[in-house]
Amino acid sequence: MPVPVEKQIQELREKLRYHSYQYYVLDDPHVPDAEYDRLYNQLLALEKENPHLVTADSPTQRVGSTPLVAFEQIQHQMPMLSLDNVFNEDDLQAFNQRVKDRLKTDEEIEFTAEPKLDGLAVSLRYEHGELIYAATRGDGSTGENVTQNVRTMQSVPLRLLGSDYPDVLEVRGEVFMPKAGFERLNRQAREKGGKEFANPRNAAAGSLRQLDPEVTAARPLGIYCYSTGVVEGAVLADTHYQILHRLRDFGLPVCKEIKRLHGVSACLEYYQEISSRRDDLPYDIDGIVYKVNSIDLQKRLGFVARAPRWAIAHKFPAQEEISRIIDIDFQVGRTGAVTPVARLEPVFVGGVTVSNATLHNMDEIRRKDIRIGDQVIVRRAGDVIPEVVRVLPGSRKKALAEIKMLTKCPVCDSAIEQIEGEAIARCTGGLYCRAQRAEAIKHFASRKAMDIDGLGDKLVEQLVEEDLVHTPADLYQLSIETLASLERMAEKSASKLVAALERSKQPSLSRFIFALGIREVGETTAMNLANEFKTLSAIQHADYDQLIEVQDIGPIVAQHIVNFFQQQHNLEVIEQLLSAGVQVVDVKQEATAQSNNFFYGKTVVITGTLPTMSRGEAKEKLLASGAKVTGSVSAKTDYLLAGDKAGSKLAKAEKLGVEVIDEATMLKRLVNSN
Ligand code: NAD
Repeated sequence: MPVPVEKQIQELREKLRYHSYQYYVLDDPHVPDAEYDRLYNQLLALEKENPHLVTADSPTQRVGSTPLVAFEQIQHQMPMLSLDNVFNEDDLQAFNQRVKDRLKTDEEIEFTAEPKLDGLAVSLRYEHGELIYAATRGDGSTGENVTQNVRTMQSVPLRLLGSDYPDVLEVRGEVFMPKAGFERLNRQAREKGGKEFANPRNAAAGSLRQLDPEVTAARPLGIYCYSTGVVEGAVLADTHYQILHRLRDFGLPVCKEIKRLHGVSACLEYYQEISSRRDDLPYDIDGIVYKVNSIDLQKRLGFVARAPRWAIAHKFPAQEEISRIIDIDFQVGRTGAVTPVARLEPVFVGGVTVSNATLHNMDEIRRKDIRIGDQVIVRRAGDVIPEVVRVLPGSRKKALAEIKMLTKCPVCDSAIEQIEGEAIARCTGGLYCRAQRAEAIKHFASRKAMDIDGLGDKLVEQLVEEDLVHTPADLYQLSIETLASLERMAEKSASKLVAALERSKQPSLSRFIFALGIREVGETTAMNLANEFKTLSAIQHADYDQLIEVQDIGPIVAQHIVNFFQQQHNLEVIEQLLSAGVQVVDVKQEATAQSNNFFYGKTVVITGTLPTMSRGEAKEKLLASGAKVTGSVSAKTDYLLAGDKAGSKLAKAEKLGVEVIDEATMLKRLVNSN
């Protein structure tokens, strides 16, 4: 039996009231805006069909929600209204037609087009240029007194500029939190284990509606003014656009994107243009507001219950929607990071159908308490990978199993390691793992590793994709014919590459160790390992206790090195490289050449901006001559190579009596010792 319309209306109103309370009063929405808008539009449609059922307290007839009693209340002299919405071009055309019909004109209407900032509306009352009070919109007729909080916002002038302001000027605007500030605030909350805000709108509302103004003062809030309320003692201008310019002259912030446009097509172009830049704007917007520009025409059009007839909000497609988690898979990235990915019931969000969303890492899953079967809010903003924002509050009706991290890589079956204190789990398979192969080989061939000229990233990807190269050892088996048969490869470049491969066959021990791509073993660590252990075999057999003794190697790196050499397939790759003719030049052999170098065995720290080379280049030169280059100055440091703007390291070196040299001195000493 169909549900009677009275009951449907009643249920929708109850849901909307509940969500409005969560959203406006508690700043903690339980559903995405799109879901709220759907319920709202259902109610609107039912009320349109059954006008006799419309009541004054219906959410369709009201603005916002009752103010919080904890705040002193302020009566708005002129009500603060909401805006009607359209979600597509047809409905915008219909709005335009309604405006023309009411004004009995066929001429194109002049509009202003403004980004619809996603924050909360406030009213600022200035008397004789001085800020008297600030109030939230509340239920449209009564708002909350947030004067002390607004006074902490740098962008709100406490006194207007100039002298030609009206005696009484009530300005209305949107308080918002810039995206960067929002990210920072949530990061801090996460670090402290506190509650995060669902989105910048709620962060702005939650920050402004604080009983303690000091809390507001510490929050990154901005404001853009977009209209006036009561104005006494002067007429500001004849058009909305000019009024906004007057506000700007008084020192009030007004959004720079606001434009004056003729007709709907220009409005649609503006919508597209802003929409394409939406992700790059420093603040969140959820649509465009068009307003009839002439104040005279605005007056003729007037208002309906909760919104003006002369303005409309053209909403962007929702960036948050509800879906359900069907399954959770683990993906192995090119660097070995194992990322849990949610498989979702397909949902249209951010303009596309989404069926996968990243869950980032296990900490995130635990923090959000996400489980298979949960109803969740999915967010897709611009080109950013879709993510699960949170579980829909109150939606879990039965116990669901907790998610556990895999112990073996789903691609290569190697062990998965998670170093304590690190959020990311990683496959230890390295080269052996197909998912990581291309990255590992690119690293192997790179300039500071085996320095294989002509083996670019694209070519490596091609070789891996076509199954010609599984390990770096396979590179040395490539023939000119095989290479020349590849797309975009000619005979000449193929033979050049084979020659470069030949040339790369005698790497120094440190380059070779660096080329292996052991986690967190960079150039310097590789150099230190080489200097300490002298031969490849000694490094392979070094245990944790020996490794941790080496300069710059801490417990995590030591563990990575031990793990690497414990994997049978890594040992096999080394074997294959050696049988392919790679001859690692041990430090013993290098030593004779190096021991007369000035910097041989000396510990050097580099700081500041050097006149002719980067710090990286200087480091390379020093390492090549047998120096140890470290990151911080201590009693063990022999020299500080200091450039321009050398700061605390220079001070420390001077304090410890470490010799400070400049680039020219370093170069002279390098030359003299060879
Ligand atoms: P609204 O946000 O759709 O539009 C009116 C508001 O837009 C104004 O009050 C003002 O604050 C703001 N605005 C931003 N830029 C503006 C500009 N340039 N000119 C004029 N106004 C501008 O209306 P509303 O009544 O504040 O809120 C309704 C919306 O809030 C719903 O569409 C829904 O998306 C959301 N909502 C969500 C939930 C939830 O549970 N998720 C609950 C209630 C409301």
